[in-house]
Amino acid sequence: MSSPQQELLSWYAANKRDLPWRHTRDPYRILVSEVMLQQTQVDRVLPFYQRWLASFPDAQTCAEAELEVIHRQWKGLGYPSRAERLQLACREVVQQRCGQWPDTAAGLQELPGIGPYTAGAVACFAFAAAVPLVDTNVARVYARRDGLTMPPDKKELWAHAAAQVDPGDPISYNNALMELGALICGARSADCGACPWRERCVARGDDQRQQETANPLKVASRKDSYGVAITDRKKPRHHVVLALIHHDGRYLVAKRPHGAHVGGFWELPGGKREKGEDDRVALAREVIEELGGEILAARPFVSWNHDYGDRYISFHCYRCRLFKPEAVAPLAADELQWVEPAAFMQLNFPPANGPVQQRFKKYHRL
Ligand code: SF4
Repeated sequence: MSSPQQELLSWYAANKRDLPWRHTRDPYRILVSEVMLQQTQVDRVLPFYQRWLASFPDAQTCAEAELEVIHRQWKGLGYPSRAERLQLACREVVQQRCGQWPDTAAGLQELPGIGPYTAGAVACFAFAAAVPLVDTNVARVYARRDGLTMPPDKKELWAHAAAQVDPGDPISYNNALMELGALICGARSADCGACPWRERCVARGDDQRQQETANPLKVASRKDSYGVAITDRKKPRHHVVLALIHHDGRYLVAKRPHGAHVGGFWELPGGKREKGEDDRVALAREVIEELGGEILAARPFVSWNHDYGDRYISFHCYRCRLFKPEAVAPLAADELQWVEPAAFMQLNFPPANGPVQQRFKKYHRL
């Protein structure tokens, strides 16, 4: 009888996707792929990965690049702090370690911006270290195949995974396991008939168990709601986007022009979403029009509805970074100010914008 490792590796040999980072053992290129794959799907990463390596083929070119150039190459992939961390690690290797990458997970973790998972991935895929790699796909497969208790204890899960790694070919084993979780043993559905472990899996064909184990690493969080519920479907509804722009620990606020509706109140830059626009397009346009700035990154912060009596306004606030935050100008406001979080909470916002401060308070634990 073949071992679980052999079964998985045979399946992988016949079914693996041809991904560019699987053709290299260069720690820099592996790191680029691992950082890009954090929170981003493979298909989306592929063109960015190729473009990035065309611009920065090695750690030295990445380390020496201007931060703005780094951001422009990363633009569109999201979470630009990932690119900053990648550059910090490259700088450390190029400037402090004569271009030599550490070859163990522990050594890699000493580089700035590299956490335990990424360090393990680079140690495995670049240096063939027989370490476990537990992402959500891998956790799901083990939780299902071996009937692990849910939610799994993280320490026990990693120990469980460590005992399974094939020491003879850890690179293929770890890749294969992730591939199985991505292609066959999915969060939404499991194709048990095509699974190399169907004969040894306790969750095979068990829909309930498969649902319980869909996202084993996800910690359930209570979602707060703000504003009012939309109860009158006939009442007109408009959408407004707001930019909560931060830089160096401070936030940008604008004072509404005197003479305008709620003039003199502080507010966030933004405005009405126009026909044909989605939030991000509207946000980019508003920030250019009101500040002369360009958005580097925007993540949802809080959304709510406000009832004005004759219409609803649905506000969509994004936490943003700009390419050149120091260059903003008050093109549509009496005044701009950068304020610390505590001062932000003291500002007078129009009543309809109250949920921004409620969410902000929670975000900063003020
Ligand atoms: S048999 Fe089904 S549930 Fe079990 S590991 Fe394979 S795909 Fe997942």
